[in-house]
Amino acid sequence: MSDDVYRQLCDTMARRGGTFPGMDIPEFYELAVELFTAREAAIINALPRGLTPAGPIAAALGEKEDTVLPILEKMADKGLVFSIKTKGRTLYSGLPFVPGIFEYQFMRGTDTSRDKKLAKLIMAYKTAVRQHRKPGEKDFPVYRVIPINRSIEAGTRIHTYDQVKSYIESSEPLAASTCYCRHQAKLIDEKSHCGKPDDVCLQLGWGARFVIDRGLGRKISKQEAFDILERSEEAGLVHCTNNRQEIDFLCNCCSCHCIILQNALAHPQPGRALSSGFQPEWYAERCTACETCIERCPMDALQVGPEEIPQVDMDRCIGCGVCATGCPEQAIEMRQRQDTPPPPLDRRALKESLKKSAPAQNG
Ligand code: SF4
Ligand code: SF4
Repeated sequence: MSDDVYRQLCDTMARRGGTFPGMDIPEFYELAVELFTAREAAIINALPRGLTPAGPIAAALGEKEDTVLPILEKMADKGLVFSIKTKGRTLYSGLPFVPGIFEYQFMRGTDTSRDKKLAKLIMAYKTAVRQHRKPGEKDFPVYRVIPINRSIEAGTRIHTYDQVKSYIESSEPLAASTCYCRHQAKLIDEKSHCGKPDDVCLQLGWGARFVIDRGLGRKISKQEAFDILERSEEAGLVHCTNNRQEIDFLCNCCSCHCIILQNALAHPQPGRALSSGFQPEWYAERCTACETCIERCPMDALQVGPEEIPQVDMDRCIGCGVCATGCPEQAIEMRQRQDTPPPPLDRRALKESLKKSAPAQNG
């Protein structure tokens, strides 16, 4: 029975999709047994689509609500299911591994022996999935980069979805938590930490409400969110989020540990896998050839060009603006590319785009 439930869980997590869906390999089962009890796995397998109260979930299992509800609550606290309180009742829904369950495991920033074990199992699973993945899979990007606002050429008419600040201004509540990726690296090997700030993972709107309710992060003011953005930009971190106009998280990523940039780096053309739709342009006369921009670029997209002016490889450039904000001479500005379509509007539109790109993966 227990084996069956985890095999079924593998199918369930495969259907959920995301960057690391369920895969029938030994690393999946080792991780699944650590994350979910057999009872929890059975509940995950029975979850209906969409947000659902405990009653119908219990009915799908042929059980009474009061036996299933405490387990659902515990699973939400552990970041294994999503929950939201609305109109006096709590609704639950399933989560993919990424974005979702993996991140929630380390957002509290704790370092128990179980955290350390889980960090290793998740890393082993991610590595195995990357090895099994066929080249060209997931052609339509699931994430995108938002350029650093102050790197953008003055006078550019910027869409709201290209402005981190407008997301902060329009979202309520806001939450901050520990960067799952850098914390996972620290749990595996303290020395592997890159020294970039850890407390800069932002959640917005209903994403924030969940982490606040479940103690996975803390509620912050808009001013604190702006301060976090500024610290992240100073540290050369990249603003990454869902590839849709409606967003619920804003990661501040380093290329050494963060899952989003690591996946882009594994792509032969990172600029295609993850782009902001902006590109750097140089004022050659201002450049003193100090090479700071080359050192700061998280994608290794820059090299010294003719007359020592840095040259960009657009197949690698993700349009983050980290080069521009680090330039002491203000010799770089980010300009809008003409060839980048707007991100899908919402979750549904992103799903459609992913579905449409699927046949090309097999062709
Ligand atoms: S950081 Fe600025 S001044 Fe230095 S090489 Fe790059 S563009 Fe030139
Ligand atoms: S060149 Fe590098 S740092 Fe500059 S925008 Fe492109 S990826 Fe970012």
